[in-house]
Amino acid sequence: MLTSSSLLQKERALQLAWARYQAYPNFEHFVEFSLAINNCTDTLTQQSQIGLHHICRQLEQQTLLLFGDENNHPIAADIMRALGEQVARLCELLRRYCDSEGEITQERRARPKPEDAPAARVTNGVQQVFLMGEHGARQHDLATQLGYFGISVYEGGWNLPASGHSGFGAYLLDVDEQPAGRWLSTLQQLRERVPMAYIVCLGMPDDFIAMNQALQAGADHCMAQSASLQQILSQVLTHRETEEQESYRVLIIEDSRTAAHVINRALEERGTLTQVLYDPLQTLSVVRQFQPDLILMDMYMPSCTGVEVARVIRQHDEFLSIPIVYLSGETNIGLQVEALRLGGDQFLTKPFNPVLVNAVVKSKIDRYRALRRSMQNDSLTGLLNHISSQQALTTALERLQDDEGLAVAMLDIDHFKQVNDTHGHPVGDQVIRSLAWLLKQRLRRSDVIGRYGGEEFVAGLARARADDAEEILDRIRNDFSRIVFHGNDNRPFQTSFSVGVAVCMEGVPTRKNLKTLLEAADAALYQAKRQGRNRVVLTRR
Ligand code: GH3
Ligand code: MG
Ligand code: MG
Ligand code: MG
Repeated sequence: MLTSSSLLQKERALQLAWARYQAYPNFEHFVEFSLAINNCTDTLTQQSQIGLHHICRQLEQQTLLLFGDENNHPIAADIMRALGEQVARLCELLRRYCDSEGEITQERRARPKPEDAPAARVTNGVQQVFLMGEHGARQHDLATQLGYFGISVYEGGWNLPASGHSGFGAYLLDVDEQPAGRWLSTLQQLRERVPMAYIVCLGMPDDFIAMNQALQAGADHCMAQSASLQQILSQVLTHRETEEQESYRVLIIEDSRTAAHVINRALEERGTLTQVLYDPLQTLSVVRQFQPDLILMDMYMPSCTGVEVARVIRQHDEFLSIPIVYLSGETNIGLQVEALRLGGDQFLTKPFNPVLVNAVVKSKIDRYRALRRSMQNDSLTGLLNHISSQQALTTALERLQDDEGLAVAMLDIDHFKQVNDTHGHPVGDQVIRSLAWLLKQRLRRSDVIGRYGGEEFVAGLARARADDAEEILDRIRNDFSRIVFHGNDNRPFQTSFSVGVAVCMEGVPTRKNLKTLLEAADAALYQAKRQGRNRVVLTRR
C-alpha cells in the first residue's frame, strides 16, 4: 500500500503546480497542473479511498475540459477563481486524510515490542472497524467473527464516532429492519463526520430506490439483507488489500530527442522509470537488461521502422506479452491497422497529451501485471499457487542469514470431504477462502503463504523461532476452529485444520534443502492427523 507520505508529496506537487499556473497562466503550466491532479487521482484509486477519489476525479474531469491548446490560456478569471477554490478544498482534505493515516501508523508503532511477538503483528488489511446500528445478536456475531481475523470492532449503536478519531479502517452501518428515515439521516451525518472513510451499509433491503439513496447519501458499498456473514467479512477484509506497487518501467524507442524529451517528462512526473533508446538496433539487449513493463515505439526511425522493431521483439517468447504502444504523427488508417496486426497494442498520435500518455501507459501496464499475477496466484484465494509458493520458499531460504531459521508449515483442513458432501462445493470454497484470509490477516507481510493444493496450504515464517512459530500457528488454528460458517439451509457449522511444522535450525548443513523441509513438515502433518486432527505438530531438524 502506498504510504500517506507519498500522497502528501502529491498534494504538495498539486499545490505547487496550481500556484505556478496562477503566476504564469500558460498552456505548459496547465499541462503540469493536469498531470499533478491526475497523479493524485491514481494514487487515491490505489489506496481504495473511494470518497476522496470521487472528489479528485471530478476536479480532474473539469481540468481536462479546460485543457485545449495554447489559445485557451489563461482561462477566464471567474473560472480560475472557482477552480482555485476547489483545488484548495481538495488539498485540505488530502492533508486531513494524511494526518489521520499518520496517527494510525504511529499507533501501530507504539504497540509493545512487535518484533518479539510476530503473532501480534497484524500487517495486512483493516485493523479496526466501527460498527453502527441496533445492538443485538446479529451485531454481536459479526463482531466476534471479525475478531477471529484479528480485527477489533467498536460497537457504536446509533452514536456517531467521536469527531477527530479516524483510526478505523471501515465503518459498517447495519440498517436491517430500520425505517429508511432513521438510517439515511445517520448515514448522512456519518459521511459528514468522516468525509474520507470507507462506509458499508449492511442489511439493505434489496430495492433499487433504497440502494440508490444510500449511495447518494455517501455509502461506498451496500450489502443486501441476504448477504452472508462470509460475504461481509470478504468485503471488509479485501477492502484495503492493495499490494505495494512497484514503479512502472517504460522503454521509449524514439530517434527524435525532442519527442523523447516530451514523453519522458510526462512519464517521469508520475514516478515512472524510463529509459530512452535512440538506436533501435540495440533493442534486444536493452529490453533484456531494463525489463520494461511497456514499450513506447516511434513509427519512423532512420535505420528501421517501429513495426520492424516490434516484429523482431515478438520473435522472442519471453517478450511476447510486453505491451507495445506506437507513437506517430501517422493518420493513415491502413498503416496503423498493419502496425497493430504485427504485434502492437495501441497508437498515440502526435502531439501527445501527457495525461492521455500516462493513462494509456497505466492501463496497459496494470493489465499486463494482472496477467503476470494471474499466472502466479491461485484464482480462488489470491494466494501464491503451488509452483510460486515453492519458488518463494526457495528464495526465503536463500536469503536467510547464518544465524536465522525458517519455519515451514503444511496446513490441511480436517474432514473437508464431509464439508463438501454435507453443504456442497460452493460452501467448501468459502471455507477455503476464509482460511486464506485468516492466514493473510494474521501472518506477516514478509511470510510466504501459498495454496499448495485443494484444501492444503503452505506457510513459510522467516526468522521465527520454533516455539514462536508453533505458538503463532496454534493461535490461528484455535481461532479458525471458532469461525462459524453457514451451509445447507443456513445451518451453522465449524471446522478445523491440522498443521505440521518443520523448522530448519542454524548450522545444520542440509538446512537449505527445501525438499527435505517440506517432507518433514508433511510427515508432521500426518502425525497431527493421526493424533486426532485440529492440532499443531512440530518437528525440529
Ligand atoms: P483429512 O482430515 O484426512 O484431511 O480429511 P479430508 O476429508 O479433508 O481429506 P481428503 O483428502 O479425503 O479430501 C479432501 C477434499 O477436498 C476432497 C476434495 O473434493 C476437496 N477439495 C479439493 N479442492 C477443493 C476446492 O477447491 N473446493 C472445494 N470445495 N473442495 C475441494
Ligand atoms: Mg522518428
Ligand atoms: Mg488434503
Ligand atoms: Mg483434509
